[in-house]
Amino acid sequence: MLDVTLLGTGGVRPLPDRFLTSLLVKYRGREILIDCGEGTQTAMRKYKKSLQEIDLICLTHFHGDHILGLPGLLMSMGLEGREKTLTVAGPKGVGEIVSLFRQLGPVLFPVRFIEVHDWQEFYREDSLSITAFSALHSTVCFGYRFDVSRSPKFDRERAEALQIPLKYWNRLQHGETVAADDKIYYPEDVLGGPRRGIRLSYYTDSRPTEHIAAMVEGSDLLIGEAMYPDDREKARERGHSSGTETAVLAKNAGVRELWLTHYSPSFVNPGECAEQLRSIFADTVLPSDGMEKTLRFSE
Ligand SMILES: [Zn+2]
Ligand SMILES: [Zn+2]
Repeated sequence: MLDVTLLGTGGVRPLPDRFLTSLLVKYRGREILIDCGEGTQTAMRKYKKSLQEIDLICLTHFHGDHILGLPGLLMSMGLEGREKTLTVAGPKGVGEIVSLFRQLGPVLFPVRFIEVHDWQEFYREDSLSITAFSALHSTVCFGYRFDVSRSPKFDRERAEALQIPLKYWNRLQHGETVAADDKIYYPEDVLGGPRRGIRLSYYTDSRPTEHIAAMVEGSDLLIGEAMYPDDREKARERGHSSGTETAVLAKNAGVRELWLTHYSPSFVNPGECAEQLRSIFADTVLPSDGMEKTLRFSE
């Protein structure tokens, strides 16, 4: 399962009652943060999240509202005595930006960098993989897709009928062919068909594109941009998406649920647009800061 916390929902600048857009994802004790605008560490404290548990930070792009919280976060991690390695992924140049930021505070722990590319699976741990995909903004920008794979169901009755010794079941369940006792046991004899995993997708600061729709297809949860409620002209000029456009994308991509975020400071009451947006895509949510959800395998 994936635990998701939308730490903030604002775009451009933080407001007294709205942090900048940032997402925290937890998977089997690992923490992954997407974007770190000014105030993200304050949002983490407010929602009782530990800075030290972050293993990976994924940056969508290098506009200030997505990265200016990083020097402060690195400094706080250092002051709290962090020793474990932090990995920062982002567009080309991520190494230079983070090297500059780490000079501003006592950052003595190791920091690794990953330059991401379109359609690149750059992270894999256990059954979680993360894939970057290109967005279309006024600068190079990426979205991120999290996939948790699920192993096929093990057919106990079949394994018993085939008289496969219990000690080999676990290996077969993990897809391994077992040669033992002068016999060969094949996983496909005791495993069911492929099962749906979990997919979470996130993008912001982008025009809606067919490429994004293809990359986020079938997501259990899509977190996408609503810089403006329904102003397509302004969104087009500035390389952003309106809520209406993102609701259309979510519908076309067959996602199960959409959360909108990165509201412009002028977009004061996003909840007022809920009804209109749900007439386009019924499972649209207009979250406030701190919204949480646990994504589980569906039966
Ligand atoms: Zn932004
Ligand atoms: Zn931007």
